[in-house]
Amino acid sequence: MTSCNHRRKCSVQGCMEKGDIFHILPKDLKTRQAWIIFVHQRIPAKFYPQMFMCSKHFTKDSFQNLRHFKAGFAKLLLLKRGAVPTVSPSQTQAVL
Ligand SMILES: [Zn+2]
Repeated sequence: MTSCNHRRKCSVQGCMEKGDIFHILPKDLKTRQAWIIFVHQRIPAKFYPQMFMCSKHFTKDSFQNLRHFKAGFAKLLLLKRGAVPTVSPSQTQAVL
């Protein structure tokens, strides 16, 4: 994954997060579908595969290295395999 300076926007409707930490759609099909359902509430006929999800939609235990990341030991905040977003914009609370 390359880093770029473009400001990304979270794909979740109603989420105004424009931070730097975003997660891209996972390769695993099942997990991918769960992400898409979280964003669209269903599997749409067409969707934009360049989906970005900010960290706010995941619970703390969805991350592999939250502690390391917070302590500055890791540059990238990694999601656990199969981590699915569950926190909607109205429920978000600062994880980081
Ligand atoms: Zn978001």
